[in-house]
Order: sequence, then structure tokens, then C-alpha cells
Amino acid sequence: MEALLQNNEDVVLFVGMVSALVLAAILEALIPRQPERADINRRWANNIGLTALNQVNITFFSGAVALVLAWWGGEEKIGLLRQVDLGLVPSLLLAILVFEFVAYWFHRALHTIPWLWRIHAVHHCDTELDFTTTYRNHPLELYVNAPLTIPVILVFGFPIVTVLLYQLLKTSISVLAHSNLRLSPAADRILRLVLVTPNFHRLHHCSERRFTDSNYSAAFPVFDYLFGTARNRPYAEHATMAIGLDSFRAPRDGRLDRLLLMPFVWRPVPARDASIQPEAA
Ligand SMILES: [Zn+2]
Repeated sequence: MEALLQNNEDVVLFVGMVSALVLAAILEALIPRQPERADINRRWANNIGLTALNQVNITFFSGAVALVLAWWGGEEKIGLLRQVDLGLVPSLLLAILVFEFVAYWFHRALHTIPWLWRIHAVHHCDTELDFTTTYRNHPLELYVNAPLTIPVILVFGFPIVTVLLYQLLKTSISVLAHSNLRLSPAADRILRLVLVTPNFHRLHHCSERRFTDSNYSAAFPVFDYLFGTARNRPYAEHATMAIGLDSFRAPRDGRLDRLLLMPFVWRPVPARDASIQPEAA
């Protein structure tokens, strides 16, 4: 079973991602937050273009990475967990904590280090939010992230099944968190204690910088609560708040070629409004 998964890791992840996107598309059609959205055809064409480009990158890159991990980690029995058999559930819980911790601080770095923000702004300048925004990332983000994530996989030596399950969980939650899905305030209040909900993540895409620099988690919000970066705002305000970045609102800014060039041809984002204090989570 483990060998089968290891040999078909790319296929399992790809099928998982497509299934999550299809599920989110169906849910958005059934219970949309905003039924009519401007410019959807143009946005979707560019977002899906970037998603496809990232997928090609991931396929080539993860193939190379898998070879390195198999050679160095598997054969040499490198990794703390290769010495003990934790069992699936404990190792999955540990993987969630470890990978989410790394992802949380990486995401904070993307927002605070200027050259990383230029790359990450491609994700944030989408003027609406739906399931197609999930993989609207600049391809460079993958290569900047890898030197952080790969050593973690090697040091801990998580079993391949654990890593796959975590990635499938994270993909599904992250796609739903980006989706234009209506969730009642009551359901949101309960779910956001353990999962990143559409409302929780929507605030991260709000163009007011005090909210953009909050709610960093992609799937499990534990470290936003722990490090005091979880924010909330009244449910009614979500309907009117602006999504995206004020410097990149022109239709041409969303074009695929512009998105790919954005980190190199940069227009500064207006200074953050320091006079407004964030609300309590
Ligand atoms: Zn972000």
C-alpha cells in the first residue's frame, strides 16, 4: 500500500486537488455568498491559467524532490519518526502541527519581507475570492517554499501515507476556504475554532492592510490563535468590504502576463493604515 502510494503520489494529489475544486464549484453554485460577480470570465481565465502553470511546475519539481527524498531519507533511514512507530492518527496530528507551523511563519514572511511580498501579491491582487483563487500563486512561491518544507520532511521522516493525508486535508480545506461559499455566522463561529473557514480566510484577502496581515493559516488556524494574529469583523461588513490590493485593480493587472511579471515590475501598495487598531478575534 505504502509503495503504491509512493509511486503514485502525484496522481493521488492531483485527483485530490481536482476533486476539491469540483466540490467547491458545486457548493458555490448551490450556496453562493455573492450570486453575481463582476468580470468572472476574465478572472477565471487568468486564475486557471496560473493554476495550470503551477501544476506543471509541481509535477516536474515534486518528481525531482521525491527522488532526493527517497534516496536520502528512505534508504538511509533518516528522520526521527523512522525510529518509532507512532501510528497513523498521532503521526497525522504531529504532521498537522509541524507543517502548519512552518506554513504559518512562511506566510508571515511572505507578508513582511518586501521581495517575498512582491511574489505573494499575485495571490492577493485577485479582486474577488472564489475557488479559482486558491492556486493563483506566482510559480516562484513554490521554489521559495521548498527549502523550508523539504528539510522538515527529512528531519521528521513522516511516513508517506501521513504526508499524503495531510496534503489532501490541507488542499481540501484551503480550496473551500477560498470559495465563494455562504456559511451561516453560527456555523462559522464553531468551525473556525479548528478549521479555516471561508469567512476567516476572506478577511485575509480584504484590501485593508490591518486585515491582510492577519488570519495567515491556510487550513488549521491554531497558530493564528496562538500568536495573536486571528482577526474577525462583523458578518454584515463582509458583504461590502473590498477584496484585493488597491494598486492592482485595473483589468489589465489581472492578465496572466502581468501576474507573472508582477514581482519584477512593482508598483508599491499604499502605506498601511496604522491609525486603526485591529478588532479582537
Ligand atoms: Zn497572504
